Amino acid sequence: MDELKNIMDAVNPIIKKRLNYTDSVFDVWFSELILAELTEDKAIFTTRSKLKQKILTTKYATVVREALSEVIGFEVEPQFRFVGEDQEFPPPVPLFEKTDDESREKKDERAAEFKRLISSDSGSSVLDGYTFDNFVRGDSNEFALSLCLAVAHEPTAYNPLFIYGDSGLGKTHLLAAIVNYIKKNSPHLRIVYKKSEDFINELIHAISTGSTASFKEKYRRADVLLIDDIQFIAGKESTQEEFFHTFSALYEANKQIILTSDRPPREIQPLEDRLRTRFEGACIADVQPPSLELRLAIIRKKSADMGLVIEDELVNYMAERLQNNIRQIEGVLKRIGALSTMSSGGLTKEKLEEIISIIAPDSIPPDVMVEKILSVVAKKNGLRPEDLKSKKRQDNIAKARHTAIYIVRHLTSLPLQTIGQIFNRDHSTVMSSIDKVEINIKTKKNAQAEILALIKEIKG
Ligand code: ADP
Ligand code: MG
Repeated sequence: MDELKNIMDAVNPIIKKRLNYTDSVFDVWFSELILAELTEDKAIFTTRSKLKQKILTTKYATVVREALSEVIGFEVEPQFRFVGEDQEFPPPVPLFEKTDDESREKKDERAAEFKRLISSDSGSSVLDGYTFDNFVRGDSNEFALSLCLAVAHEPTAYNPLFIYGDSGLGKTHLLAAIVNYIKKNSPHLRIVYKKSEDFINELIHAISTGSTASFKEKYRRADVLLIDDIQFIAGKESTQEEFFHTFSALYEANKQIILTSDRPPREIQPLEDRLRTRFEGACIADVQPPSLELRLAIIRKKSADMGLVIEDELVNYMAERLQNNIRQIEGVLKRIGALSTMSSGGLTKEKLEEIISIIAPDSIPPDVMVEKILSVVAKKNGLRPEDLKSKKRQDNIAKARHTAIYIVRHLTSLPLQTIGQIFNRDHSTVMSSIDKVEINIKTKKNAQAEILALIKEIKG
């Protein structure tokens, strides 16, 4: 038994390092994991949480297998077993000690009463259908997702929680998933979900009708308060004042607060210092634009869910074109869905291009992007675009060519082969150009700034 524990003590730091997780996130998934049995081909782990069992199996099996083999010197297949009461999810940790002995019925009663008080404030209809199950995981959203899961599973695990990122990257989806998860698994908890605009309007209304007392009461009785797009509070002094008091009251009573914003706390301007301090002290996670891999996964999943059959080539093209916004990906798929019910012909590249230009007018087709890159990079170096595609090998031309190749790769995610064709080179030359620029960026002081300036000009 001790031997198994020693193995885990060696394995855990390897897993943590590979995942590059902080202690607290690592602990969410691994702290209670027990290595119960090790045979020549299997490692059996036990966990008391069905949720963890599922997540460990689908997501962490590979890293566990690799870390184990590093420690024990041979390959075994990890298996995660759920041990404990047979229920779908383990019971959430009660929010407050005081209510520990309160019966479930009584809690449900209180929740029902509260629901009457707040009517639709847990955002039922708008949030329906957004769950953790239909949220596609990728490097860009993984951290935020694991924190949201942890908080849904165990409110106040990370408190307050602040999620930020550009529009269309899944923040509202994550909030809704938390709401739906808690409603299902901890129905006695009182949830208030609000868009910050609605919070602001409600407060203005309460002030003008002299009903601020019931406004206050409503918010301060929440067990879980979720405010979406908190950035709109910027510059609204009386709202900030009221929100500060709500925030503090809830926080002090050990209630979970979850906020989203399209920017990090320091960029919400103007914002009262005391609120900024609160936000900056929160557990903060960002969602980044999706990688090509995640975009492909999302397109494949959503089109399959919608019953759409789209050729691989067109799926790839969509993923290349729609880089910064998952909402746009959905918009395009919905149009394709509508189109497929109206016309019998299959989806063509031209039709797809037309749809993309309507839904995502800001997204530039790759051929146009390539032309732009060639002309901007050539001009900056006192060359003509043809020089970049030519066989000429002078230092300055070669250098400009490497830069152009690097930027094409970066901005279009065209395959190396295609980039090679543009520059009349084979794909290994393309790769070595990209390597050269990458080394430059790492070793030369201004290289990165120069490339960023070029990209800005190309996009602008
Ligand atoms: P935000 O609130 O950040 O502006 P949303 O949460 O509204 O973005 O997301 C926009 C749309 O994209 C939603 O319909 C959402 O379901 C979808 N979406 C975003 N990220 C994902 C993801 N990782 N997996 C599945 N759908 C996603
Ligand atoms: Mg949103």
